[in-house]
Amino acid sequence: MRKFGYKVTIYDRYDRPGGLLIYGIPNFKLEKFVVERRTELLKASGIKFVQNFEVGKDKTLEELKSEHNAILIATGVYKAREIDIPGSKLENIFPAMDFLTASNKKGLGDKVELFDNGTLNAKGKDVVVIGGGDTAMDCVRTAVRQKAKSVKCLYRRDKANMPGSAREVGNAEEEGVDFVWLTSPKSFIGEKEVKEVEVSKMRLGEPDASGRRRPVPVTDGEFKIKADLVIKSLGFDPEDIPKLFNSKDLAISKWGTIKIDLKTMQTNIDGVFAAGDIVRGASLVVWAIRDGRDAAEQMDKYISAKREKDKKEFAA
Ligand SMILES: Cc1cc2nc3c(=O)[nH]c(=O)nc-3n(C[C@H](O)[C@H](O)[C@H](O)COP(=O)(O)OP(=O)(O)OC[C@H]3O[C@@H](n4cnc5c(N)ncnc54)[C@H](O)[C@@H]3O)c2cc1C
Repeated sequence: MRKFGYKVTIYDRYDRPGGLLIYGIPNFKLEKFVVERRTELLKASGIKFVQNFEVGKDKTLEELKSEHNAILIATGVYKAREIDIPGSKLENIFPAMDFLTASNKKGLGDKVELFDNGTLNAKGKDVVVIGGGDTAMDCVRTAVRQKAKSVKCLYRRDKANMPGSAREVGNAEEEGVDFVWLTSPKSFIGEKEVKEVEVSKMRLGEPDASGRRRPVPVTDGEFKIKADLVIKSLGFDPEDIPKLFNSKDLAISKWGTIKIDLKTMQTNIDGVFAAGDIVRGASLVVWAIRDGRDAAEQMDKYISAKREKDKKEFAA
Protein backbone atom coordinates (compact mmCIF):
# COMPACT_ATOMS: atom_id res chain seq x y z
CA MET A 1 0.00 0.00 0.00
CA ARG A 2 2.89 2.31 0.78
CA LYS A 3 4.33 1.65 -2.70
CA PHE A 4 0.98 2.64 -4.18
CA GLY A 5 1.36 5.95 -2.32
CA TYR A 6 -1.04 5.47 0.58
CA LYS A 7 -0.52 6.46 4.19
CA VAL A 8 -0.40 3.20 6.13
CA THR A 9 -0.92 2.53 9.83
CA ILE A 10 -0.34 -0.90 11.41
CA TYR A 11 -2.12 -1.62 14.69
CA ASP A 12 -0.58 -4.56 16.57
CA ARG A 13 -1.25 -5.96 20.01
CA TYR A 14 2.35 -7.19 20.40
CA ASP A 15 5.00 -4.81 21.73
CA ARG A 16 7.17 -5.40 18.62
CA PRO A 17 6.26 -5.59 14.92
CA GLY A 18 6.66 -8.90 13.07
CA GLY A 19 3.92 -11.22 14.37
CA LEU A 20 5.00 -14.86 14.44
CA LEU A 21 8.19 -13.98 12.59
CA ILE A 22 9.44 -12.13 15.67
CA TYR A 23 7.86 -14.11 18.54
CA GLY A 24 6.91 -17.54 17.11
CA ILE A 25 9.63 -18.76 14.75
CA PRO A 26 12.87 -19.39 16.70
CA ASN A 27 16.07 -17.51 16.03
CA PHE A 28 17.84 -20.61 14.69
CA LYS A 29 15.29 -20.71 11.83
CA LEU A 30 14.87 -16.98 11.25
CA GLU A 31 17.39 -14.60 12.76
CA LYS A 32 15.58 -11.68 14.33
CA PHE A 33 17.88 -9.04 12.89
CA VAL A 34 16.32 -9.88 9.50
CA VAL A 35 12.84 -9.05 10.82
CA GLU A 36 14.08 -5.97 12.67
CA ARG A 37 15.93 -4.70 9.58
CA ARG A 38 12.75 -5.09 7.52
CA THR A 39 10.73 -3.26 10.17
CA GLU A 40 13.20 -0.35 10.10
CA LEU A 41 12.91 -0.17 6.30
CA LEU A 42 9.12 -0.07 6.55
CA LYS A 43 9.27 2.62 9.23
CA ALA A 44 11.70 4.66 7.12
CA SER A 45 9.26 4.44 4.21
CA GLY A 46 6.69 6.26 6.33
CA ILE A 47 4.57 3.40 7.62
CA LYS A 48 3.26 4.14 11.10
CA PHE A 49 3.42 1.30 13.65
CA VAL A 50 1.12 1.42 16.65
CA GLN A 51 2.23 -1.33 19.08
CA ASN A 52 0.45 -2.62 22.19
CA PHE A 53 -2.84 -1.79 20.48
CA GLU A 54 -5.49 -4.46 20.60
CA VAL A 55 -8.26 -4.06 18.07
CA GLY A 56 -11.48 -4.76 19.93
CA LYS A 57 -10.15 -3.44 23.24
CA ASP A 58 -8.44 -0.18 22.34
CA LYS A 59 -10.76 0.60 19.41
CA THR A 60 -13.47 -1.36 17.66
CA LEU A 61 -13.26 -2.30 14.01
CA GLU A 62 -16.09 0.17 13.34
CA GLU A 63 -14.09 3.01 14.93
CA LEU A 64 -10.99 2.17 12.89
CA LYS A 65 -13.10 1.95 9.77
CA SER A 66 -14.32 5.50 10.27
CA GLU A 67 -10.68 6.71 10.44
CA HIS A 68 -9.31 4.92 7.37
CA ASN A 69 -10.26 4.39 3.72
CA ALA A 70 -9.79 0.63 3.94
CA ILE A 71 -8.85 -1.91 6.59
CA LEU A 72 -6.91 -5.19 6.29
CA ILE A 73 -7.39 -7.81 9.01
CA ALA A 74 -4.24 -9.96 9.24
CA THR A 75 -4.44 -11.10 12.85
CA GLY A 76 -3.17 -14.67 12.41
CA VAL A 77 -4.42 -17.65 14.43
CA TYR A 78 -3.56 -17.78 18.12
CA LYS A 79 -6.05 -19.93 20.03
CA ALA A 80 -3.99 -22.90 21.18
CA ARG A 81 -5.78 -26.28 21.11
CA GLU A 82 -6.06 -27.70 24.61
CA ILE A 83 -5.63 -31.14 26.18
CA ASP A 84 -8.39 -31.81 28.65
CA ILE A 85 -7.07 -34.68 30.78
CA PRO A 86 -6.61 -35.13 34.54
CA GLY A 87 -3.82 -32.95 35.92
CA SER A 88 -4.03 -30.35 33.12
CA LYS A 89 -4.03 -27.55 35.70
CA LEU A 90 -0.73 -28.60 37.33
CA GLU A 91 2.09 -26.08 37.26
CA ASN A 92 4.80 -26.13 34.58
CA ILE A 93 2.49 -27.16 31.74
CA PHE A 94 2.54 -24.43 29.09
CA PRO A 95 1.24 -23.70 25.60
CA ALA A 96 3.93 -23.69 22.89
CA MET A 97 3.62 -19.96 22.21
CA ASP A 98 4.36 -19.05 25.86
CA PHE A 99 7.58 -21.07 25.69
CA LEU A 100 8.66 -19.79 22.26
CA THR A 101 7.75 -16.16 22.97
CA ALA A 102 9.75 -16.18 26.22
CA SER A 103 12.74 -17.64 24.40
CA ASN A 104 12.51 -15.15 21.51
CA LYS A 105 12.07 -12.18 23.87
CA LYS A 106 15.10 -13.32 25.82
CA GLY A 107 17.09 -13.60 22.59
CA LEU A 108 16.05 -10.03 21.75
CA GLY A 109 17.50 -8.84 25.06
CA ASP A 110 14.24 -8.35 26.99
CA LYS A 111 13.86 -9.00 30.68
CA VAL A 112 11.57 -12.03 30.85
CA GLU A 113 10.72 -12.81 34.45
CA LEU A 114 9.30 -16.28 33.82
CA PHE A 115 12.41 -17.21 31.86
CA ASP A 116 14.86 -15.66 34.32
CA ASN A 117 13.24 -17.38 37.31
CA GLY A 118 13.49 -20.72 35.47
CA THR A 119 9.78 -21.33 34.90
CA LEU A 120 9.86 -21.04 31.12
CA ASN A 121 13.48 -22.11 30.77
CA ALA A 122 14.23 -25.74 29.85
CA LYS A 123 17.78 -25.72 31.30
CA GLY A 124 18.49 -28.91 33.25
CA LYS A 125 14.90 -30.16 32.93
CA ASP A 126 13.19 -33.25 31.61
CA VAL A 127 11.07 -31.67 28.91
CA VAL A 128 8.07 -33.32 27.27
CA VAL A 129 6.57 -31.73 24.16
CA ILE A 130 3.17 -32.95 23.04
CA GLY A 131 2.40 -32.72 19.32
CA GLY A 132 3.97 -33.52 15.98
CA GLY A 133 3.76 -30.36 13.86
CA ASP A 134 6.39 -27.77 12.99
CA THR A 135 5.64 -25.75 16.14
CA ALA A 136 6.37 -28.86 18.24
CA MET A 137 9.69 -29.21 16.36
CA ASP A 138 10.51 -25.57 17.16
CA CYS A 139 9.80 -26.28 20.84
CA VAL A 140 11.93 -29.43 21.08
CA ARG A 141 14.83 -27.80 19.26
CA THR A 142 14.56 -24.68 21.44
CA ALA A 143 14.59 -26.87 24.56
CA VAL A 144 17.76 -28.62 23.30
CA ARG A 145 19.43 -25.21 22.83
CA GLN A 146 18.41 -24.18 26.34
CA LYS A 147 20.35 -27.26 27.57
CA ALA A 148 17.45 -29.38 28.76
CA LYS A 149 18.45 -32.62 30.53
CA SER A 150 16.23 -34.63 28.19
CA VAL A 151 13.71 -33.73 25.48
CA LYS A 152 10.94 -36.11 24.52
CA CYS A 153 8.32 -35.54 21.85
CA LEU A 154 5.06 -37.44 22.15
CA TYR A 155 3.09 -38.00 18.97
CA ARG A 156 -0.04 -40.13 18.67
CA ARG A 157 0.70 -41.49 15.19
CA ASP A 158 3.96 -42.88 13.78
CA LYS A 159 6.86 -41.13 12.09
CA ALA A 160 5.46 -41.70 8.57
CA ASN A 161 2.24 -39.93 9.57
CA MET A 162 3.65 -36.87 11.29
CA PRO A 163 2.14 -33.56 10.17
CA GLY A 164 5.43 -31.67 10.51
CA SER A 165 8.10 -31.56 7.81
CA ALA A 166 10.34 -34.65 7.68
CA ARG A 167 13.39 -32.37 7.52
CA GLU A 168 12.43 -30.71 10.80
CA VAL A 169 11.97 -34.12 12.44
CA GLY A 170 15.35 -35.24 11.06
CA ASN A 171 17.00 -32.08 12.45
CA ALA A 172 15.44 -32.68 15.86
CA GLU A 173 16.55 -36.33 15.90
CA GLU A 174 20.10 -35.32 14.99
CA GLU A 175 20.07 -32.85 17.90
CA GLY A 176 19.17 -35.61 20.34
CA VAL A 177 15.38 -35.33 20.68
CA ASP A 178 13.76 -38.59 21.66
CA PHE A 179 10.53 -39.19 19.71
CA VAL A 180 8.02 -41.39 21.45
CA TRP A 181 5.83 -42.40 18.53
CA LEU A 182 2.29 -43.73 18.91
CA THR A 183 1.66 -42.25 22.34
CA SER A 184 -1.03 -39.98 23.68
CA PRO A 185 -1.05 -38.28 27.11
CA LYS A 186 -3.63 -39.79 29.48
CA SER A 187 -2.94 -37.74 32.61
CA PHE A 188 -0.42 -35.38 34.15
CA ILE A 189 0.87 -36.53 37.53
CA GLY A 190 2.20 -34.38 40.37
CA GLU A 191 1.23 -32.62 43.62
CA LYS A 192 1.50 -28.96 42.67
CA GLU A 193 3.90 -29.15 39.76
CA VAL A 194 3.88 -31.77 37.03
CA LYS A 195 6.31 -34.64 37.69
CA GLU A 196 5.26 -37.27 35.18
CA VAL A 197 3.11 -37.74 32.12
CA GLU A 198 1.08 -40.92 31.98
CA VAL A 199 0.78 -41.93 28.33
CA SER A 200 -1.30 -44.47 26.45
CA LYS A 201 0.40 -46.54 23.81
CA MET A 202 -1.52 -46.20 20.53
CA ARG A 203 -1.86 -48.20 17.32
CA LEU A 204 -3.11 -47.03 13.96
CA GLY A 205 -6.68 -48.14 13.30
CA GLU A 206 -9.06 -47.62 10.40
CA PRO A 207 -8.83 -44.42 8.31
CA ASP A 208 -11.06 -41.53 9.42
CA ALA A 209 -13.07 -39.18 7.17
CA SER A 210 -9.85 -37.42 6.09
CA GLY A 211 -8.33 -40.74 5.00
CA ARG A 212 -5.68 -40.75 7.77
CA ARG A 213 -5.52 -43.84 9.99
CA ARG A 214 -7.01 -43.00 13.35
CA PRO A 215 -4.83 -43.64 16.44
CA VAL A 216 -6.54 -45.94 18.97
CA PRO A 217 -5.26 -46.79 22.47
CA VAL A 218 -3.66 -50.20 23.02
CA THR A 219 -5.25 -52.10 25.95
CA ASP A 220 -3.04 -52.00 29.07
CA GLY A 221 -0.50 -49.94 27.12
CA GLU A 222 -0.05 -47.16 29.72
CA PHE A 223 3.34 -46.06 30.96
CA LYS A 224 4.86 -42.99 32.64
CA ILE A 225 7.43 -40.48 31.45
CA LYS A 226 9.35 -38.17 33.79
CA ALA A 227 8.67 -34.50 33.14
CA ASP A 228 9.26 -31.23 34.90
CA LEU A 229 8.32 -29.03 31.95
CA VAL A 230 5.48 -29.96 29.59
CA ILE A 231 4.83 -27.98 26.41
CA LYS A 232 1.52 -28.39 24.61
CA SER A 233 1.75 -28.00 20.86
CA LEU A 234 -1.46 -29.31 19.37
CA GLY A 235 -2.08 -26.61 16.81
CA PHE A 236 -3.90 -23.31 16.63
CA ASP A 237 -7.43 -22.20 15.84
CA PRO A 238 -8.65 -18.70 15.07
CA GLU A 239 -9.87 -16.57 17.95
CA ASP A 240 -13.50 -15.44 17.87
CA ILE A 241 -12.79 -12.35 15.75
CA PRO A 242 -16.38 -11.01 15.45
CA LYS A 243 -16.63 -11.07 19.26
CA LEU A 244 -13.11 -9.79 19.84
CA PHE A 245 -13.57 -6.92 17.38
CA ASN A 246 -17.08 -6.16 18.62
CA SER A 247 -18.18 -6.68 15.04
CA LYS A 248 -20.76 -9.42 15.14
CA ASP A 249 -21.71 -9.01 11.47
CA LEU A 250 -18.26 -10.03 10.23
CA ALA A 251 -18.77 -13.36 8.42
CA ILE A 252 -16.62 -16.32 9.40
CA SER A 253 -16.30 -19.87 8.05
CA LYS A 254 -17.19 -23.03 9.96
CA TRP A 255 -13.52 -23.20 11.01
CA GLY A 256 -13.67 -19.68 12.50
CA THR A 257 -11.46 -18.16 9.80
CA ILE A 258 -12.61 -14.91 8.19
CA LYS A 259 -14.61 -15.37 5.00
CA ILE A 260 -13.47 -13.32 2.03
CA ASP A 261 -14.40 -12.98 -1.61
CA LEU A 262 -11.44 -14.85 -3.12
CA LYS A 263 -11.19 -12.40 -6.02
CA THR A 264 -11.39 -9.11 -4.14
CA MET A 265 -10.14 -10.36 -0.73
CA GLN A 266 -12.90 -8.27 0.80
CA THR A 267 -14.92 -9.55 3.75
CA ASN A 268 -18.69 -9.15 3.85
CA ILE A 269 -18.12 -5.67 5.36
CA ASP A 270 -17.51 -2.94 2.78
CA GLY A 271 -13.93 -1.69 2.85
CA VAL A 272 -12.69 -4.43 5.21
CA PHE A 273 -10.27 -6.96 3.71
CA ALA A 274 -8.54 -9.97 5.26
CA ALA A 275 -5.40 -12.00 4.50
CA GLY A 276 -2.90 -14.50 5.89
CA ASP A 277 -3.50 -17.15 8.54
CA ILE A 278 -6.78 -15.60 9.70
CA VAL A 279 -8.19 -16.50 6.28
CA ARG A 280 -6.24 -19.68 5.49
CA GLY A 281 -5.88 -21.15 8.97
CA ALA A 282 -2.34 -21.82 10.27
CA SER A 283 -0.18 -21.66 7.13
CA LEU A 284 3.22 -20.40 5.98
CA VAL A 285 5.09 -17.10 5.78
CA VAL A 286 5.29 -17.20 1.97
CA TRP A 287 1.51 -17.40 1.73
CA ALA A 288 1.02 -14.56 4.20
CA ILE A 289 3.38 -12.38 2.14
CA ARG A 290 1.68 -13.31 -1.12
CA ASP A 291 -1.75 -12.62 0.41
CA GLY A 292 -0.54 -9.26 1.71
CA ARG A 293 0.61 -8.22 -1.76
CA ASP A 294 -2.63 -9.42 -3.39
CA ALA A 295 -4.69 -7.65 -0.73
CA ALA A 296 -2.79 -4.39 -1.30
CA GLU A 297 -3.63 -4.54 -5.01
CA GLN A 298 -7.28 -5.16 -4.24
CA MET A 299 -7.44 -2.39 -1.64
CA ASP A 300 -5.86 0.03 -4.11
CA LYS A 301 -8.51 -0.92 -6.68
CA TYR A 302 -11.26 -0.48 -4.10
CA ILE A 303 -10.07 2.95 -2.92
CA SER A 304 -9.40 4.18 -6.46
CA ALA A 305 -12.86 3.09 -7.63
CA LYS A 306 -14.46 4.79 -4.66
CA ARG A 307 -12.59 8.01 -5.33
CA GLU A 308 -13.66 7.94 -9.00
CA LYS A 309 -17.26 7.47 -7.93
CA ASP A 310 -17.05 10.31 -5.40
CA LYS A 311 -15.49 12.58 -8.06
CA LYS A 312 -18.29 11.83 -10.52
CA GLU A 313 -20.95 12.39 -7.89
CA PHE A 314 -19.33 15.68 -6.88
CA ALA A 315 -19.16 16.86 -10.52
CA ALA A 316 -22.80 15.92 -11.21
C1 LIG B 1 6.04 -21.57 16.17
C2 LIG B 1 5.76 -21.30 14.73
C3 LIG B 1 6.76 -21.54 13.80
C4 LIG B 1 6.52 -21.31 12.46
N1 LIG B 1 7.53 -21.55 11.57
C5 LIG B 1 7.33 -21.29 10.27
C6 LIG B 1 8.38 -21.51 9.33
O1 LIG B 1 9.47 -21.96 9.67
N2 LIG B 1 8.14 -21.18 8.03
C7 LIG B 1 6.94 -20.69 7.61
O2 LIG B 1 6.78 -20.39 6.42
N3 LIG B 1 5.94 -20.49 8.48
C8 LIG B 1 6.10 -20.78 9.79
N4 LIG B 1 5.08 -20.57 10.68
C9 LIG B 1 3.80 -19.99 10.20
C10 LIG B 1 3.93 -18.50 9.92
O3 LIG B 1 4.60 -17.87 11.00
C11 LIG B 1 2.54 -17.89 9.70
O4 LIG B 1 1.91 -18.57 8.64
C12 LIG B 1 2.63 -16.40 9.34
O5 LIG B 1 3.36 -15.69 10.31
C13 LIG B 1 1.22 -15.83 9.21
O6 LIG B 1 1.29 -14.44 9.04
P1 LIG B 1 0.07 -13.51 9.43
O7 LIG B 1 0.51 -12.12 9.10
O8 LIG B 1 -1.18 -14.02 8.84
O9 LIG B 1 -0.10 -13.67 11.03
P2 LIG B 1 0.93 -13.45 12.24
O10 LIG B 1 2.35 -13.58 11.84
O11 LIG B 1 0.43 -14.35 13.31
O12 LIG B 1 0.68 -11.94 12.68
C14 LIG B 1 -0.53 -11.56 13.24
C15 LIG B 1 -0.35 -10.23 13.95
O13 LIG B 1 -1.62 -9.76 14.34
C16 LIG B 1 -1.54 -9.24 15.66
N5 LIG B 1 -2.88 -9.31 16.26
C17 LIG B 1 -3.64 -10.39 16.51
N6 LIG B 1 -4.82 -10.04 17.05
C18 LIG B 1 -4.80 -8.69 17.16
C19 LIG B 1 -5.71 -7.72 17.65
N7 LIG B 1 -6.90 -8.05 18.14
N8 LIG B 1 -5.35 -6.43 17.61
C20 LIG B 1 -4.16 -6.04 17.10
N9 LIG B 1 -3.25 -6.92 16.63
C21 LIG B 1 -3.57 -8.22 16.65
C22 LIG B 1 -0.53 -10.11 16.34
O14 LIG B 1 0.03 -9.43 17.44
C23 LIG B 1 0.49 -10.34 15.22
O15 LIG B 1 1.47 -9.32 15.21
C24 LIG B 1 5.26 -20.82 12.03
C25 LIG B 1 4.25 -20.61 12.96
C26 LIG B 1 4.49 -20.86 14.31
C27 LIG B 1 3.39 -20.66 15.32
